[in-house]
Amino acid sequence: MTEAAEPDFDVIVIGAGIAGAITAYQLATQGRSVVLIERGEAPGAKNLSGGVLYCRGMQEVFPDFLTEAPVERRITRNYINFLNADSSIGIDYKDTRLSDPVNAVTVLRAKLDPWLAEKCEEAGVFLMPGVRVDKVLTEDGPTGKRVVGVKAGDDELRAHVVVAADGVNSFISQEVGLRTKEPLNHLAIGVKCVVNLPRETIEARFSVTGDEGAAFAIVGDCTQGIGGGGFMYTNTESISVGVVLRLDDLTAKNKSTTDILDYFLAHPFIAPYLEGGEVVEYGCHLVAEGGLAMLGEISMDGLVVVGDAAGLTLNTGLTVRGMDLAVASGVAAAKGIGAALDSKDTSKVGLAGYREALFASYAGKDMETYAKAPAFLETERMYKEYGELIGNVLYGVFNLDNSPREHLLKVAMKAFKKSPVKIKHLIKDGLAGVRAL
Ligand SMILES: Cc1cc2nc3c(=O)[nH]c(=O)nc-3n(C[C@H](O)[C@H](O)[C@H](O)COP(=O)(O)OP(=O)(O)OC[C@H]3O[C@@H](n4cnc5c(N)ncnc54)[C@H](O)[C@@H]3O)c2cc1C
Repeated sequence: MTEAAEPDFDVIVIGAGIAGAITAYQLATQGRSVVLIERGEAPGAKNLSGGVLYCRGMQEVFPDFLTEAPVERRITRNYINFLNADSSIGIDYKDTRLSDPVNAVTVLRAKLDPWLAEKCEEAGVFLMPGVRVDKVLTEDGPTGKRVVGVKAGDDELRAHVVVAADGVNSFISQEVGLRTKEPLNHLAIGVKCVVNLPRETIEARFSVTGDEGAAFAIVGDCTQGIGGGGFMYTNTESISVGVVLRLDDLTAKNKSTTDILDYFLAHPFIAPYLEGGEVVEYGCHLVAEGGLAMLGEISMDGLVVVGDAAGLTLNTGLTVRGMDLAVASGVAAAKGIGAALDSKDTSKVGLAGYREALFASYAGKDMETYAKAPAFLETERMYKEYGELIGNVLYGVFNLDNSPREHLLKVAMKAFKKSPVKIKHLIKDGLAGVRAL
């Protein structure tokens, strides 16, 4: 037998983040009985901040997402920045095509998650906030251990399928042995805060108007040599700003996350954007950074894993994506679970449609395309030497100090001589970058 006996629900979803809510919503619209369990007092209570959501996947689920959901700003300006202690070099990419059709929006999870939960309830999902799932219930089946439900305090609930959507730490997928303790280079720590500022101040400082917004990806002095980067995103009346730091590098260099964030916020090229603002939220969270290498088994008899819990995050250095992958994995999981429920086979074999649907979607394909990105981002030179090298070349070009001018090639060769970066590094890293990104 491949089914749990007399379940309370068709499906139990653990975690009302984006991945859990989308899975639950899609299953409810198929007519399945679904319970969505969230440990926070309300959905979003544990997801204080937000970020840039590449929203096309979300719009396939909710066609009116952009007009109905609590979105902040449409991102039309992407600024890529090399930050040095005394200089800042950027590529300022502004494109009206990014606003029609809308490509990405900023969201605050404290607003978005409750909206998603409301949509779930409207579709018939039974929402249980303020309940922490402590463990899954298992039974021995013909093909090994099978998940048949969950335990929360003294209560037990049973279902044909349990969905682990419990985020990057996913105790559930670790408990059932689908994920082991991750090596440190698969994880980063994100430290971020939300700074309130008047709407017109944001628009003037970030050169945007109306509901347009800007996303800054920053590398270099913002992390003080630690692998990772900084970011600044404009919300309607606040800025989300922070750093993502590779855990292995942070541990090896024994630096404090709060010191690095404070340094970044006070940096002479960052502070003017935030001046006069009030910090209204502050928090740290792990980020999955292992890419495809981190995505192992995502299903077993009676259980599937979605979103961050499955390691579905992509950091290419230019974009940090997790929310849109959470959407795609929720859609794929609901498809796979629906097919398994129809065929009355919710074993790992019966649930195989989830993996197939995931790898047929943009999420699985992008994980494959950027499989080499995590290794490329371990290139130490990117976090200090390259920014300083470019800064020194530009200083040589623009600093007219009444000494005779030299051709650009000569200026560049002098800067190279002073830098630990050699031409061979440039070729090697350039090729690795082209292959990874
Ligand atoms: C600093 C930082 C910046 C980021 N920036 C971006 C960005 O700009 N763009 C982007 O796309 N992504 C970004 N990400 C990644 C993004 O936040 C995640 O990929 C996304 O939130 C994953 O969604 P999820 O639903 O899988 O997990 P989560 O959003 O973590 O949701 C998990 C939910 O499960 C609940 N839960 C956990 N355990 C239990 C339990 N035992 N019982 C009941 N409930 C439980 C939690 O309370 C939570 O509500 C960023 C992450 C960080 C840390």
